[in-house]
Amino acid sequence: MSWQAADLLKQQIPLLDYLQGQGWKPARRSAGGRLLGLCPLHADHQPSFLIDPSKNLFYCYGCGRGGDVIRLAELYHGVRFAEAMALLRDWSGLGSLLPDVAKFYQLHLQRHVEAGAYLMHRGLQAEVIEELRIGYAPGRCLRTWLNSLGYPLSDLQQAGLVNAEGYDTYSHRIVFPLEENLYGRSIGAAVPHRFLPGSKGGLYAWQKVRHHPEIILVEGLFDLAVLWQAGFHNVTCALGTHLNALQFRQLCADNECSGKRRMLYLAFDSDANGSGQKAAQSLSQRLRTAGINTRRIELPAGHDPNSFFVSGGSAQEFRCLLERACL
Ligand SMILES: [Zn+2]
Repeated sequence: MSWQAADLLKQQIPLLDYLQGQGWKPARRSAGGRLLGLCPLHADHQPSFLIDPSKNLFYCYGCGRGGDVIRLAELYHGVRFAEAMALLRDWSGLGSLLPDVAKFYQLHLQRHVEAGAYLMHRGLQAEVIEELRIGYAPGRCLRTWLNSLGYPLSDLQQAGLVNAEGYDTYSHRIVFPLEENLYGRSIGAAVPHRFLPGSKGGLYAWQKVRHHPEIILVEGLFDLAVLWQAGFHNVTCALGTHLNALQFRQLCADNECSGKRRMLYLAFDSDANGSGQKAAQSLSQRLRTAGINTRRIELPAGHDPNSFFVSGGSAQEFRCLLERACL
């Protein structure tokens, strides 16, 4: 698929911009908007380097070389194709590793029916899948793609995307991009969810929700997704029942909304062993000590917000649960 990546890069980086970024200046303009200047690839004394900005191509009458922006970067920096791609990406500030990975997984979601079927089974529709940029990691293909974009294997291993044996670490997993991580949930075997090494980061999409006077905090992203679909866009997620220090600080630092203290609703799982509700109780106490208004939502026994909506619960019914929420 490297030609696709190359095509995309060529569309994103105009040859003229890149040349000018390297200090190249045109000496004169010729017919059809083409520009002529000194060749940056050989010791040129009279302008013999022609570029056509509309076609994004160059040709030198002196050294006889020509091509597109990637070819130019190869020749100019004396590097191979993949490295030239990486240099161009760095130069343009285009993308970085995790957004590139997320885009790749989004593409694969379209190609794997089993992944679409799993999301449907969890009650997720196209709009929320798009909104949350949910993707699918089939396994065994990420590494090749990223190498073609110019990322060296060592970067991928360091990020935890590829293991020591060289295989993709995320395989048969639904993937939600986070700000600085990727959350992967297996669609097959009952294996635990996983993150890349490093922190799970702050509260999910905090910048988007922090201005709401009422916020609903859920345990998982599938809970968040169904609530979002039901019209509750003031939802965030801690990715578990335990808030890390950053997440806790976020809630405390942004505690006011138009001069009023915000209300935080905890909508944790109502599981049989009571662990979700116990976690909600103790978190609620900690938050109240820190000066935050909280209420706990009690879902019907055995339900989490996701299963509540999947089994036919409506936005109206959930709103009733919000109104009945207790301390
Ligand atoms: Zn030349």
